[in-house]
Amino acid sequence: MRPLQLFRRLCAAALLLSLLTLSSCAAPAAQESAAETPMPQKIEPKGKVYYSYFDTVSYVYDYAGDSAERFDERSAEVSHILSGYHQLFDIYHEYSGVVNLCTLNRAAGGEALAIDGRLVDFLLYAKEMYELTGGEMNVMLGAVLRPWHDCREAAASDPAGASIPDEETLREAARHTGIELLEIDAERGTARIADSEASIDVGALGKGYAAERAAEFLERDGAQGYVLNIGGNIRCIGDRPDGSGWVTAIRDPDRAAEGYACSLRIRDTACVTSGVYERYFTVGGVRYHHIIDKDTLYPAAYYASLTVVTRDSALADALSTALFCMPYEDGAKLAQSIGGVELLWIFPDGEQRSTPGFAELIEEPTPS
Ligand code: ADP
Ligand code: MG
Repeated sequence: MRPLQLFRRLCAAALLLSLLTLSSCAAPAAQESAAETPMPQKIEPKGKVYYSYFDTVSYVYDYAGDSAERFDERSAEVSHILSGYHQLFDIYHEYSGVVNLCTLNRAAGGEALAIDGRLVDFLLYAKEMYELTGGEMNVMLGAVLRPWHDCREAAASDPAGASIPDEETLREAARHTGIELLEIDAERGTARIADSEASIDVGALGKGYAAERAAEFLERDGAQGYVLNIGGNIRCIGDRPDGSGWVTAIRDPDRAAEGYACSLRIRDTACVTSGVYERYFTVGGVRYHHIIDKDTLYPAAYYASLTVVTRDSALADALSTALFCMPYEDGAKLAQSIGGVELLWIFPDGEQRSTPGFAELIEEPTPS
């Protein structure tokens, strides 16, 4: 990653961090403008540590007040879990002794490879999410995502010469994105990509899935009052000791650097947002972001951001990307059929719509 990109993501994660530490009994977070609203008093976590995985920054917070030793043990195990998935999900690098997604992509069209049981489970889950979302979240979209990624990288080093992939390249790439090209033999513990032009990209799902596995460990270990922030994907484990939940803010896509659309009070759940402002480049004044609609092969144009609150962070991540690529009615219907999924859609013109359950999470500003 380029230093500037890493810096931006560090800033983004730090912003979310500061919002997560808001006191539940203090004034609410900004509704109009971060600059105009007095900042609420912060409640610092008792333990806090950060790691650099998945090309982004991850934080572990403990609000319950574990002993330093206990926190160290628990956060070290979280780090171990995240680091394992970081290596397995990496599509750009291989690691000694590890068969990961980069290995699988490089072997595309060849023999099946023996893979780690964690990767088998993940790939099966990715297929499940493909089915659930009617193919809108497709980890086999790699062939189409690559030209977009290359143009974004080129634009970062030469903004004036920035260009987008040509239509023909995208159409040709789209012929190599079938989910059936990903062959998994769970019994034998092997996987194969059946087409040498096809490749896997788990950017839409990997962080949320890894966060859920880390949360699973913490829950099994009896942890309460922990928060994981995996590159902006939030997963709360239990509640704050005083039962007041945490306040987190959803960015205003128009003022992504400093403005918030609303603040939510959440507990024992995950909160994941996909937005046009997260990763993009500009050509001729037009912004091209990083979430690609399988039907057009161009950045999805329905929303400026979409937020999912649901308990399972992997599901939240899968849905944040998939619903971002679906018309409002279809997304609402899908969420309702799953159950326990609350959504906030922010449209390009700024209009906001939410599920009734989401509206209940919104932290109302107190009159001053
Ligand atoms: P972020 O990773 O920025 O939090 P998302 O969860 O929405 O946001 O994932 C976006 C990433 O997922 C992209 O960078 C790309 O790697 C991948 N991606 C983009 N569009 C799709 C899609 N329709 N299906 C599956 N993966 C996608
Ligand atoms: Mg996602």
